[in-house]
Amino acid sequence: MSAILDDSRGAPRFIADRMLGTLTRYLRFMGYDTLSANSLQGGNAAEDTVLLRIAENEGRILLTRDRELARRGGKQAILITDEDPVTQIEQLAALRLIHPELIMSRCSICNTLLRPASAEEIQQASYAPADRTAFEFSWCDTCRRLYWMGSHGRSLRQRLRCE
Ligand SMILES: [Zn+2]
Repeated sequence: MSAILDDSRGAPRFIADRMLGTLTRYLRFMGYDTLSANSLQGGNAAEDTVLLRIAENEGRILLTRDRELARRGGKQAILITDEDPVTQIEQLAALRLIHPELIMSRCSICNTLLRPASAEEIQQASYAPADRTAFEFSWCDTCRRLYWMGSHGRSLRQRLRCE
């Protein structure tokens, strides 16, 4: 496991199976580089093998609800035991793989690193809160989507017992 943890940020990177869409989004909100099987083309009978290969090639930890896939992944894989995403986060925290902290540094939809939004990007987003001075805004260049830590982020932080 130490080789996997030893990337430039010291943070593990993940790839999650199709059952773990919510966990994937939570991990991205926590800043963890997390790929999802949901962004692979569907209907590939050998998808498990594809996931294992990506995990191996990119030094990612494979997160799966599938016992057989976890077995095939060996030390590279973690069997996620509960179906509740909050409990799943707790499992990874208990394994000391993650530190639950909502930093909103990645797009929850596509995993791209966010950058500070420009005044123009904030201005043009009709869904941004009216009081724009109270928040820090970030931007996903891939989805062209604005992010900020609003009430949704705060309730998520409480649910996930983040610091
Ligand atoms: Zn995005």
